[in-house]
Amino acid sequence: MNKKIIYLDYGATTPLFKEVYTEMEPYIMKYYGNGSSVYSFSEESKMAIDLARERVADAINCKKSEVFFTSGGTESDNWAIKGAAFANKKKGKHIITTQIEHPAVLKTCKYLKTVGFEVTYLPVDKYGIVDIDKFKASIKADTILVSIMYANNEIGSIQPIKEIGKILKDKDIIFHSDGVQAAGHLNIDVEEQYIDLLSISAHKFHGPKGSGALYIRKGVKIESFMHGGSQERSKRAGTENTPAIVGLGKAIELSKLNMKEEEQKLESYRKKLIDGLLTIPNTWLNGPDPSMSKRLPGNVNITFQGIDAEIILMHLDLKGICISVGSACSAGAMEPSHVLLALGLDKLSAKSSIRISMGFETTEEEVDFTIDVINEVVNKIRNK
Ligand code: PLP
Repeated sequence: MNKKIIYLDYGATTPLFKEVYTEMEPYIMKYYGNGSSVYSFSEESKMAIDLARERVADAINCKKSEVFFTSGGTESDNWAIKGAAFANKKKGKHIITTQIEHPAVLKTCKYLKTVGFEVTYLPVDKYGIVDIDKFKASIKADTILVSIMYANNEIGSIQPIKEIGKILKDKDIIFHSDGVQAAGHLNIDVEEQYIDLLSISAHKFHGPKGSGALYIRKGVKIESFMHGGSQERSKRAGTENTPAIVGLGKAIELSKLNMKEEEQKLESYRKKLIDGLLTIPNTWLNGPDPSMSKRLPGNVNITFQGIDAEIILMHLDLKGICISVGSACSAGAMEPSHVLLALGLDKLSAKSSIRISMGFETTEEEVDFTIDVINEVVNKIRNK
């Protein structure tokens, strides 16, 4: 394919940073030693894994010994929720989460219900933010775990994490946050924000796919997810994927360095995109108003009333523009997004919504071009 691609789907995944690849490469071909072996050749792998752990710890303000490498966000979410639920089931069986979590959290909670846990799914307001009073009211005497995402992947809403964390700390309830969309883009501080378990995924911040981490606060009771060898201090068995771990470490270090610059740039592009698209009649923005500072800088989610978003996506694809729609394929049919329904949208409006997610390499020319193309496409569809 030679067509120029305008990639505006950074919420789905991000391109690898060149420096990340450069740092990973020797661990694919040259330093292939098993990080658990004792001879000196394996020292290279061991040291590289250790450096990556230090870089993750620096980025989220925790100790190196509290970082555990996984195969990505889905595994980290599964481990955090099942691991904490099973390890603390004698204390209680109640778990709180929200209606707008990623399926990695929602389906894990659904599974836990089948084995005797009780789950409360908190609603969100029209901006996609959890109401603190409703949250407080949902806590019960037997609540053992709360899982609330840091930032939402579809509408970019950022939750009041510190406030939630403080309430839970005072009640001695474990707080897990799915930080997959936030890590590398927002300033996460697990100490200041009272987070006990945090999931991150490298491919959302220019690292390799299939590489993630779970932060586990010292003292938090959690069962091992993978049973086998004694890797990751016997908590997550399996030979370490050294290149992927090295890539994650470098990517989080670079993302931290680029964060301020990326935020400023993306906030101005976001404004331009929203202003440009809302001039089209019968459109609206889903998720927080950017003036509330509660939205991921690169995220825009818009409904084009009366138009099937799939059709918009297909037209944009012909022009080389990559975006997402507010529906997902489930059992062969397109189902409206559960996140948009939780905001109060009806099914048809949810299916008329698109997500544009910009990132570090996005240019102003791409934003301008996309605004023009969408204007043209929507006009064409509506005037057919
Ligand atoms: N959680 C959120 C909020 C996500 O956006 C994603 C991926 O889209 C995941 C979890 C799953 O992460 P991974 O793709 O690394 O399994």
